[in-house]
Amino acid sequence: MKSVFVYCEVENQKIAEISQELLSTGKKLATKLGCPLEAMVFGSQLAGIQGQISLYGVDRIFVADDIRLEPYRTLPHSSIATHVLKQEEPQIVLFGATSVGRDLAPRLASALNCGLTADTTILDIGDHFVKKEKKEYKDLLYAIRPAFGGSIMANIINWDQHPQMATVREGVMKKEVFDENYTSEIVEVDVNSIVKDEDFVVKIIERHIVESDVNLKEAPIIVAGGYGVGSRENFERLEELANLIGGEVGGSRAAVDAGFIDHNRQIGQTGTTVRPKLYIAAGISGAIQHTAGMQDASMIISINNDPEAPINSLADYVIHGDLGVVIPKMIKFYKAN
Ligand code: FAD
Repeated sequence: MKSVFVYCEVENQKIAEISQELLSTGKKLATKLGCPLEAMVFGSQLAGIQGQISLYGVDRIFVADDIRLEPYRTLPHSSIATHVLKQEEPQIVLFGATSVGRDLAPRLASALNCGLTADTTILDIGDHFVKKEKKEYKDLLYAIRPAFGGSIMANIINWDQHPQMATVREGVMKKEVFDENYTSEIVEVDVNSIVKDEDFVVKIIERHIVESDVNLKEAPIIVAGGYGVGSRENFERLEELANLIGGEVGGSRAAVDAGFIDHNRQIGQTGTTVRPKLYIAAGISGAIQHTAGMQDASMIISINNDPEAPINSLADYVIHGDLGVVIPKMIKFYKAN
């Protein structure tokens, strides 16, 4: 049966952000194809998770709930996913480009003898004419991903193998709840009949979760600095401003390359994709590789001494001036108010 399938990841009894993004995108693709959206979720004590998945308009949720499935391990999870996908024969299957998705999806592509487009940033449905076959294929998944380090955007279409599978970069697709009251059919997967003892040969002895103090994706306000900030010391002014207005500091790649700010704060195509309520771009020119990661901010303020800087055409407000003057004035204003 034609359907769109999403592999959902669970973190601390909550559906992962990336899975919510995938379900939202999956719903749009399924609506275009006029087919159901389906999800699979594997882990332990998943009763509360199912409701979180339904919200995205999922028609059926394949649930494998077993204490042995938490945390993720390659062999049991891939055995179960292969079983479900062979049985259901979906047209499209989506995974997050996470450590789990990057591990699982290639195994499934191999087991199902189909292709896999990795690390995609745009997905859509369209028709495709194959010249050598002189044949038009209808309703195919178009997967677009940056290639050669982001220098080109590759449009990848797999027309002759099914399912069409893709991993999707975190943070680039929008989360959109479809219907708070949507009811999904739950299909319980019989884990014991699928997994074998050998699937549990890997034992997890210890897990270390590294907490990062940088959370650009969730930040409502980002003060981002570019090469125009000029030095690491000047970035401390941006940090002071960000703290005053409840924001995080980010940077362009040129600022990262110059050593003004750490790489984990880079915004853009090869950094983090952000969607804050307010994005202050200080001394950033607005190269496409940067704007690709911030153009969906609700409001953009550009501070630049060049009135022709490309970022200004994207900005809601432009402060034309020198950062050395503008930033201290802003700090003074917010300290006083
Ligand atoms: P610049 O382009 O040098 O701009 C500096 C700006 O500061 C200028 O507009 C200038 O007018 C202004 N300025 C200077 N001094 C002052 C002052 N005193 N007061 C006010 N304004 C001032 N870039 C990213 O950001 N993120 C990415 O993820 C990314 N990925 C890339 C991937 C690839 C494959 C490639 C090829 C490039 C990538 N880049 C990325 C780099 C990108 O192309 C640009 O080079 C980079 O974004 C430029 O950074 P910038 O705007 O800080 O610097």
